[in-house]
Amino acid sequence: MEPYILSKSKEYNEQLKQFLSGGVHYNFRTVGEEVPRHFKSGKGSYLWDLDNNKYLDFYCKFGAMILGHNHPEYGEALEKQIYRLLAVNHTDLDLEVSELVVRSVPGIEKVRFGLSGTEIIQNALRLARAYTGKDKFLRFEGHYHGNMDNIMGGKMASVDNPYPVEFPGDPRATAGRVRNVLKEQSYILPWNDLALLNNLLQEKQHEIAAIIMEPICINGGGIIPLPGYLEEVRKLCDKYNIVLIFDEVITGFRVDLGGAQKILGVIPDLTVLGKAVGGGMPVSILGGKKEIMDLYSSRKVVHAGTFNGYPLGLAAIKATIEILSRDNGVIYEKMKKYAETISKIMIETAAEVGLPLVVQGPGPVVLYHCCDKKITGSELPNADTQVKSSIINRCMADHGILISPISRMYFNVMFNDEDLEFFAERIGPSFKAAAQIIHKVYKSSNEKGGLK
Ligand code: PMP
Repeated sequence: MEPYILSKSKEYNEQLKQFLSGGVHYNFRTVGEEVPRHFKSGKGSYLWDLDNNKYLDFYCKFGAMILGHNHPEYGEALEKQIYRLLAVNHTDLDLEVSELVVRSVPGIEKVRFGLSGTEIIQNALRLARAYTGKDKFLRFEGHYHGNMDNIMGGKMASVDNPYPVEFPGDPRATAGRVRNVLKEQSYILPWNDLALLNNLLQEKQHEIAAIIMEPICINGGGIIPLPGYLEEVRKLCDKYNIVLIFDEVITGFRVDLGGAQKILGVIPDLTVLGKAVGGGMPVSILGGKKEIMDLYSSRKVVHAGTFNGYPLGLAAIKATIEILSRDNGVIYEKMKKYAETISKIMIETAAEVGLPLVVQGPGPVVLYHCCDKKITGSELPNADTQVKSSIINRCMADHGILISPISRMYFNVMFNDEDLEFFAERIGPSFKAAAQIIHKVYKSSNEKGGLK
């Protein structure tokens, strides 16, 4: 099979660049340009671009499209809502949807709605500061909590000074950041390391209002917490009056309707949800313990936003929950089975073309890395692994398999046996093409003394 040609997409993107900065809707400081693929339609697990190339969509708009494209029941629910009532402050959906969320996620006793993960995380931090009377928060290397100045990028300055600093090659470093904001507001540690956490908390617990983490770290490579780690973090938070925030923007509704907290059995004080909860519509959710959330009821803490709780978003959450929870959530098992089969095919195919490959993650989302060993909490994918994985990523896309950045593969509820066949046909040629490039790049770089 020949790689796709993108002539129409490229031409379109060139014109677009005159008006849309960079010709893209967002950017980090990653090396290399995104290949423009402008899509014109979607159905089930598939997308079609301007050149009529067909893609199996594991990108899923960063995981949001858990229902796939054009889900009839979801589309119908949204259409009805658009014509019934589009935007007012309070509607007859509020009670049902708030209750549905509370009943779905174990750590949520009360909720508030927002639009993006970024925004609702800042609200969670504000609540935690108000609740504890303390100012700082602690986060972890490789975890991502939105694009605000105070929380994006960086790694530990040193074990003695564990505040975040930008580092060379940090894709989340940025010009224009408020000076010293990382250092003034937060500490950062490698994840999954209890000794380091204990040390920091013994010294700094009186400063720390919140510990925030992805309970399964998808942005760091698809890492499951070590046995006992989350339980211990939970205990430390209780001991030191620290609010434990689980950022389930990816894992919420994705690994289970109840999120990672449900499958791991550790309940945070506050939970943030986004992406998949709206099935493709922009909605985010902040929820948690009554006594913390009631800082809103008493008006001690402000939470505002023009579109908070907008009816179309609530209708989207309702339809998404209805579809995902049907037959006791059997769909999660189905997505996991497909993920297992796909992972196996990928590992076998990689071996055939002489590429190392690991696939890891909780199922309805899996990540692959072009290296020998699974990524754990303290060693995130190194630069070589990232470069090789992105070459594979690109080659898969050129052969009709679309992958989300950081080599994430999101499954959707409509994924079926035909999609699996499509994948099986294309993975061979795409891995072969990737192996050729990788072997060539690394052969010449080895001759020159390493990849520059
Ligand atoms: N938290 C996590 C874990 C995320 O992956 C993301 C988005 N990638 C965010 C927060 C930010 O969400 P949004 O892009 O909706 O602002």
